[in-house]
Amino acid sequence: MNVPLLDLKMQHQKIKDDIQQSIQKVIDSQHFIMGPEVAEFETAAAKYIGAKYAIGVASGSDALLLSLMALNIKAGDEVITTAFSFFATAGSIARTGARPVFVDIDPRTFNCDPNWIADALKKHKKAKAIMPVHLYGQCAEMQPIMELAQKHNCAVVEDAAQAIGSTYKGKKAGTMGALTGFSFFPSKNLGGWGDGGLVTTDDDNLGPLVRKLRVHGSSKKYYHQYIGMNSRLDTLQAAVLKAKLKYLDSWSAGRAERAAYYNKLFQSTGLPDTITTPYVHPDCNHIYHQYTIIVKGKPFGPSPQDKRDGLRDFLKERGIGTEVYYPLPLHLQECFTYMGYKPGDLPVSEKASLEALSLPIYPELTSQQQDYVVENIKAFMGK
Ligand SMILES: *Cc1c(COP(=O)(O)O)cnc(C)c1O
Repeated sequence: MNVPLLDLKMQHQKIKDDIQQSIQKVIDSQHFIMGPEVAEFETAAAKYIGAKYAIGVASGSDALLLSLMALNIKAGDEVITTAFSFFATAGSIARTGARPVFVDIDPRTFNCDPNWIADALKKHKKAKAIMPVHLYGQCAEMQPIMELAQKHNCAVVEDAAQAIGSTYKGKKAGTMGALTGFSFFPSKNLGGWGDGGLVTTDDDNLGPLVRKLRVHGSSKKYYHQYIGMNSRLDTLQAAVLKAKLKYLDSWSAGRAERAAYYNKLFQSTGLPDTITTPYVHPDCNHIYHQYTIIVKGKPFGPSPQDKRDGLRDFLKERGIGTEVYYPLPLHLQECFTYMGYKPGDLPVSEKASLEALSLPIYPELTSQQQDYVVENIKAFMGK
């Protein structure tokens, strides 16, 4: 049996007429920059997320960068963020000239731990913003984070690239921070046919500002109020995303069903000492961008990684795709050596990078495929 990590072909089969109609309109109009599709998608996305402004941009990475630019984050500033995320989280901060300050994570959720944010705010007086990431589709603990931000006069930029539709205490990702970045990279829960991103905000100054910054800081053609960038949401991508958005909640429900089925299978395998299934925080509604287990090290070699990577190879040989998000925490990336972090500085993130393993999860995954995945994990673990 073959169980790819992600199979977008099945999703496409079901919705292809919808999408083809939507992009055919763009093709017939030959209007490939902005135009009605971008505005229509922005309106639909703003409504879905519950934000006043939704601004389509070229990628999730740019959504974060533009959010920081709108806050005037610059060289000499610091931005507090998690050590355990995709590179773009930290890359966007460093791109502004500011310094990312990395904090460790809650080992249960893999999200930044508010206690460590409080600690960092005491030591880093130049912190101007906090960028929590809603990793794997589950929101960070936003209430304590917002309280800390307020106390220390910091802005919050949510990295919701993996969390569109996810909620925290009933509030959707993208409605809590001053600004939020979303990604429509094809493998995200709402994926385009290429790169794309979105910034949301409720702020009447920041919304129009991001709108200008994505077109070279201009609202009137050839007159530039700010130094922005070229980061529009591609019109063809907007057409694809507009057609897909109406399915998003049903896809999230499908992912949650698949996750519940994995949980049930793992509970019945008797592997609680070696496999930890995803922890769902009581304040959160997880959309399972990833279903990430923790594979513990013993009785294999010296590093927990030996067991996790051994399992990964074993599953690969049996046609099962998995991925490690992320094998090296941000504070230990080569490009950040100038900051002087050392192995051991953020031990929970470092441990997660050795033990986390994401399994195939998508609404079209079948129970038979999931049975096969868990049977093989059990076989490897020697039960
Ligand atoms: C995907 C992702 C991004 C960046 O999105 P792109 O659209 O690929 O630029 C940023 N942060 C996180 C956590 C992501 O998963």
